[in-house]
Amino acid sequence: MNDLLSVSFGELFLKGKNRNKFFKSAINNIKRNIKDIGYDDMYLESSKLYISADKEKFDSLIIEIKKVFGIIYISKIKKCDKDINKIEEATSEILDNMDLKDKTFKVETNRVDKSFDIQSPELSRIIGAYILKKYASKNNLSVNVHNPDFKVFIDIKKYAYIYADRIEGNGGLPVGSSGNGLLLLSGGIDSPVAGYMMAKRGMKINCIHFHSYPFTSKRALNKALDLAKILSQYTGEMKVFSINMAEIYKAINKNCNRNQTTILSRRFMMRISEKICQKNNYDAIITGESLGQVASQTLESMSVIGDATNYQIFKPLVALDKIEIINRAIHMGSYEKSIEPYDDCCSIFAPSNPITKPKLNYIKDSEKKLSIEKLESEAIENMEIFDI
Ligand code: ATP
Ligand code: MG
Repeated sequence: MNDLLSVSFGELFLKGKNRNKFFKSAINNIKRNIKDIGYDDMYLESSKLYISADKEKFDSLIIEIKKVFGIIYISKIKKCDKDINKIEEATSEILDNMDLKDKTFKVETNRVDKSFDIQSPELSRIIGAYILKKYASKNNLSVNVHNPDFKVFIDIKKYAYIYADRIEGNGGLPVGSSGNGLLLLSGGIDSPVAGYMMAKRGMKINCIHFHSYPFTSKRALNKALDLAKILSQYTGEMKVFSINMAEIYKAINKNCNRNQTTILSRRFMMRISEKICQKNNYDAIITGESLGQVASQTLESMSVIGDATNYQIFKPLVALDKIEIINRAIHMGSYEKSIEPYDDCCSIFAPSNPITKPKLNYIKDSEKKLSIEKLESEAIENMEIFDI
């Protein structure tokens, strides 16, 4: 008898022509997340992943495995030979550790190996009868096939796998199944959550961070890299492009009306991001904007900022309240890092009185006073790239 974890994947995994690619990417991400905890072996058998490890490690392994999108549930299971006595024994081991008082149950068999000569309903009946005989009178335990308190699952494959718990995964689609996105990652609370949400819909995430060293400290960049690391537990490995905006801010301050700084700098961010997307074959830009949150996030500002690129801009937080975003940040584990103090490039150059209803033609007039092409290509030439 062996104790294992089993990982079940969602629908999209099971169908579709890229099935193997998604499996490979999900399994790589699982391996990456659990390599520090350690495990003994891992194998795929008819769409489920089985992981053997020290039983004491199961709970911490589950926490890390859950971070991979596309998983619907994880179970602690018993593996044994396809033999009635062995299956009964495994069932006992599971039920001995459960509170059965006044509960109802149902046995559900899935016979993948059709050469096994007992059909599913029959095996369910045999094991159900065994459970009743052993546990019913002591615990007031009974069968309820329509709405049981718990189920005992038996999968008949190369071995028999028996389990009674299904721990919910984070759902979503396997990362990589919905194209590539470039996330504008600041050091704040919102953008990591935006990356998480798009990754959950299957988008592969890479990040771009804008700083303005030496006006901001190196700490701002390190914080963004730390956030990227937290995000990568869900998204897999990624690149972080780090762009110095100092010269751009200086040029804006020197030549343009100060209350346009935020809008003008955001348009630079969009154009630079677009160039990075073109060069790396990314399909979309992602931001953590939320409607009405700050001056640069009014509908008018968003339109003028969005006008700077032809790329699709995804803003998954657009309709969320700050408190909902914070709860998501706590759930994904980025909140504590995000609230550490740092000097954001935007806040240092932020006007005290930013415009909230920018007019595109005025902004374009201001841009005529700047050597946009030159500033952008210099910023991109000096870009640093980090592998996470
Ligand atoms: P966040 O919490 O993500 O910093 P925010 O509430 O501070 O967001 P803004 O500062 O208006 O809002 O930024 C809106 C979005 O623009 C951010 O979510 C992020 O996607 C992008 N952004 C802002 N500043 C930067 C930066 N320095 N580097 C990269 N992206 C940025
Ligand atoms: Mg911010």
